[in-house]
Amino acid sequence: MSYDLVVIGTGPGGYVCAIRAAQLGLNTAVVEKDATYGGTCLNVGCIPSKALLHASHMFAEASHGLAPLGVIVDPPRLDLPAMMKHKADTVGANVNGVAFLFKKNKIDAFRGVGRLAGPGKVDVTGPDGATQTIETKNIVIATGSAVAPLRDASGAEIAIDEKLVVSSTGALALEKVPQKLVIVGAGVIGLELGSVWRRLGAQVTVIEYLDRILPGFDLEVASRFQKVLEKQGFAFRLASKVTGVAQAGAGAVVSCSSVDGATSDKIEADTVLIATGRIPYTQGLGLEEAGVAMERGRIVIDDHFATNVAGVYAIGDVVRGPMLAHKAEDEGIAIAEILAGQAGHVNYNVIPGVVYTMPEVASVGITEEEAKAKGVAVAIGKFPFSANGRARAMRETDGFVKIIADAATDLVLGVHILGAGAGELIAEAAVLMEFSGSAEDLARTCHAHPTMSEAMKEAALAVAKRPIHI
Ligand code: FAD
Repeated sequence: MSYDLVVIGTGPGGYVCAIRAAQLGLNTAVVEKDATYGGTCLNVGCIPSKALLHASHMFAEASHGLAPLGVIVDPPRLDLPAMMKHKADTVGANVNGVAFLFKKNKIDAFRGVGRLAGPGKVDVTGPDGATQTIETKNIVIATGSAVAPLRDASGAEIAIDEKLVVSSTGALALEKVPQKLVIVGAGVIGLELGSVWRRLGAQVTVIEYLDRILPGFDLEVASRFQKVLEKQGFAFRLASKVTGVAQAGAGAVVSCSSVDGATSDKIEADTVLIATGRIPYTQGLGLEEAGVAMERGRIVIDDHFATNVAGVYAIGDVVRGPMLAHKAEDEGIAIAEILAGQAGHVNYNVIPGVVYTMPEVASVGITEEEAKAKGVAVAIGKFPFSANGRARAMRETDGFVKIIADAATDLVLGVHILGAGAGELIAEAAVLMEFSGSAEDLARTCHAHPTMSEAMKEAALAVAKRPIHI
């Protein structure tokens, strides 16, 4: 068996890379260690979390969102197994879709752990322990990431049993709603999964080391978002660190202290979710033996995704940059095009990030803090959804659009949104920035009325201090 390209890992990076390569005429194979394709994103990440976020949002709306609209329903009852079936069916449809696309594009799929076995060779060890060697001109490593461990005060790793102490994977599969859920980490995953269980009735306490939530996002947006979540019933312990998790009867006790060590506390929980981040996954690849350079756990690549070993490339969560599915996908397409002799490219300045809560948070480009740190003079325009007719009609007035433009050139450098549907609205900003658009370009683009997107136009008008509706 000899290929032009073997891709190790079939997450959004790997499967998209394989399909694009096959479309471009490369004889392509994939290697996947798990029983289904699609990686973290399709199996235990983006897709199941969004299935539960949607279903739990419907439950919350039926509980208290409908009466103000004049729709009176009996208090809804939760059928958690049916909700989990919706999640499983959604995952099933997506992973089967990848299998279909592999067949359609004549991509050979090998089940097993892939390992670099010398120049142009990949060993695949199947579930039965048997190893076969595949030959290939090029190898793309797309092995993704795994849950980052958390250590207690003594330095010991806090054990995750996926029942009492869970990672995101366990939090997507709880068999009953915890009464008290403690979440360690106020990043995207913690807040999304916290929203799911809060809406279904859990008391949620989030412990975060930093003095703010959503590190990396625009601070003003994150602060407002924190207030919205508090209104929804979230409790936050910021500037706090977890020093230990102990089992207590059927539950757990989480010990924490303020970061400066001045105060300490113990919080009871039925379930503890560790959501402090993810680390690159490179186990079993034989990178050290193959001489592949690594830096802080990530595979080092150049601007064309090449490692220091000829013919070996890497993309997605296992390399630098944000750990996001669409970033992995775009890198997959770019490397496939480069290997086929084209000019593949990813614009890292325009990678949107979305928190799929209600309201959503969405962001692309630089934040106000980054602009300040870089010494870039900016003009900022903001527009609240409370002044948007469609938002009022839908009772979705929480949040605002914030546009950051270069003060000298008016080029849009960043857009940050808190609001219903922010994850869809941000695409307009990404297209604008990809085409080097200015706030004036956006302000002069006709937007349909009444839509939430008019808040984008108004925020763009506000950059030049001429908004119409505020
Ligand atoms: P992965 O998706 O991790 O896939 C890697 C694959 O490689 C896996 O299938 C693994 O089994 C396989 N593999 C590993 N080693 C080997 C080996 N040696 N041999 C064979 N196979 C191997 N991102 C978003 O953009 N939007 C979201 O809404 C979002 N939500 C998320 C929610 C959760 C709960 C989590 C955990 C993550 C979420 N992410 C989201 C992040 C997203 O899932 C990752 O960024 C994305 O999956 C990375 O893609 P990848 O292809 O690099 O790796």
